[in-house]
Amino acid sequence: MVRATFRFYEELNDFLPSERRQRAFDCECARAATAKHMIEALGVPHTEVELLLVNGESVGFGRLLADGDRVAVYPKFESLDISSLLKVRDQPLRRLRFIADVHLGGLARLLRMSGFDTLYDTHFDDQEIAETAARDGRIVLTRDRELLKRRLVDHGCYIRARKPAQQLRELFGRLDLAGSARPFSLCLHCNVPLRPIDREEARERLPSRIGCSYPRFMYCDSCRRLFWEGTHWRSMRALLAPLLEQLGGDPPP
Ligand SMILES: [Zn+2]
Repeated sequence: MVRATFRFYEELNDFLPSERRQRAFDCECARAATAKHMIEALGVPHTEVELLLVNGESVGFGRLLADGDRVAVYPKFESLDISSLLKVRDQPLRRLRFIADVHLGGLARLLRMSGFDTLYDTHFDDQEIAETAARDGRIVLTRDRELLKRRLVDHGCYIRARKPAQQLRELFGRLDLAGSARPFSLCLHCNVPLRPIDREEARERLPSRIGCSYPRFMYCDSCRRLFWEGTHWRSMRALLAPLLEQLGGDPPP
């Protein structure tokens, strides 16, 4: 029989029952269990794990556990550069694209507003989300840890916050999104690129009650919606500005 000792660090403890938090504990492992299998059996989705040490050595998820192994499991580090140690995934994602589960519609809109390609549809079920994420190389966003444990899901984020603005802040911090944000470049409804249009073209498309004095207009060729720099745009900009400044990205236009 294989017995290993586990210690989970930082917010990974949120997934454990209270008697296993912030301390080392012993656990019996199934025969030929991999580190990934055991971590998930203990309740922690593998997508939340960034670094895995077995007996002090950085290993991949596929490592078979042996009797007496000491397993230390770390989440994504916010500020410590550990890139040379990372071995759990072969390929980091280069381009950040997301797929949000049905409960994260508010976050999906805020991500699109920030310029991040984010699929969201209330009709997606968990299997479709997992398949689409695997096919397109998208990061799964969810508050459902079972979804993150699916075999097909390689990159995912368990969202802890409950309100969309806080969820956006959480994700920006966790994935360092500020540098890649392109505010007001995607349609909030269709997730496709917006096209800047001039005042003349906007004049033809604007509802008559709206003046034409706004400085910028963007148009969605898919849903034929026009976006202009009015009150709604400004309140969204106010929401984004602190995120971008705090994290060193460009201020929104
Ligand atoms: Zn659109």
